[in-house]
Amino acid sequence: MLTLEEAQTALRARITPATASEAVPLRAARGRYTHAPLAAAVDNPAFDNSAMDGYALKHAELAAQGYTLPLVGESRCGAAPQALQPGTAMRIFTGAPVPAGADTIVMQEDVERAGEALRFPATTAAGDHVRRCGDDFHAGDALYPAGRRLESHDIALLATAGVATVPVVKRPRVLVVATGDELVAPGEPLGPGQIYESNRLVTLLMIEALGGEAVDGGVVRDDPAALRKLLAGAMDYDFVITSGGASVGDHDLVKQVFGEIGEIDFWRVKIKPGKPVAFGRLGSRTHFFALPGNPVSSLVTFKLFVEPALAAWHGSDYRPLEVPAVAANRFKRKAGRMEFLRARLENVNGELRAEVLKGQGSHQIGTLRHTQALLRVPAESEGFDAGARVTVLPLT
Ligand code: AMP
Ligand code: MG
Repeated sequence: MLTLEEAQTALRARITPATASEAVPLRAARGRYTHAPLAAAVDNPAFDNSAMDGYALKHAELAAQGYTLPLVGESRCGAAPQALQPGTAMRIFTGAPVPAGADTIVMQEDVERAGEALRFPATTAAGDHVRRCGDDFHAGDALYPAGRRLESHDIALLATAGVATVPVVKRPRVLVVATGDELVAPGEPLGPGQIYESNRLVTLLMIEALGGEAVDGGVVRDDPAALRKLLAGAMDYDFVITSGGASVGDHDLVKQVFGEIGEIDFWRVKIKPGKPVAFGRLGSRTHFFALPGNPVSSLVTFKLFVEPALAAWHGSDYRPLEVPAVAANRFKRKAGRMEFLRARLENVNGELRAEVLKGQGSHQIGTLRHTQALLRVPAESEGFDAGARVTVLPLT
């Protein structure tokens, strides 16, 4: 059985970054991955401008005129001002262009104004409150490499930099299917032995959040013929993700049928929960994940395998964020598999505390309402005491 690291390495080795790209407007670029490096089209700031509401002046004239200057003219946002008349100060507002001839801004709270006569503090320093053209970045500066996932704040930067459309990697098409004779859609009455299906919906949403095009493949029964039909018809997708039927039970047919039709790279990984996860290929291009059916196992294996796989597909070198924390409570167990515990995070006097939640059974989805992170217990660990240093993977 592979360790988590071995399985993740095998996974990355199998995934060739996609080459197809498309240009999307900024409004549609969040969560997408850059296909090519992006550079700024304009300088930021685009021109010298004021950081304050106040007055623009030439610093050398201040002392010469006893720190008193008459007010002449105004510079407002969105218009080019007249040049500063020698020996005067100009009214200016935040973001407005600094007029030619001025080099310093004094904020209005520091200025005594009597009619058109302005008195400035002697402490005024040359260059105060001027935002210099290009002091943030210049036109042509590299902003993002290829393979960067764009977040909302990146869109703000690109807009400022004059970038209107972004070349992004084409979305992977991802088919998501739940398997199991017991599964019923929420809202339907439950018959004997039936349960509500939950994995498919959350998987579809997480795929979309990762920049993929999620296609709902519905629920497939535990029937070899139905599963064969599904897999044989899925070879146009970039990824197929199933939940359930990946274990060793008589009705766990997904992994069997997947082995018949496709090629398995690995099955079973030394982790808890999520051991019976399988990964491989269908046909020449479709990556296949058989995730376990237990809702928590499904979530954990998605985070550990599907998330890095989608990142690799987009040409990103993303690794999940691992954060040191201090255990808020004691947790003891038998060493063996690497384990992921659902935990709540809290900042206690500047220290990140991770509390292992009660109810760690892989069927105990109720715990999820308090879960903010997965706490990773190393394979050889027999647990920890309160106050021990631990590692957590925050969930977003
Ligand atoms: P399996 O991996 O098919 O053996 O399923 C393991 C457990 O997860 C069983 O208790 C199933 O009833 C449950 N399960 C399987 N698929 C789902 C699903 N899509 N939503 C919720 N529970 C599921
Ligand atoms: Mg099942």
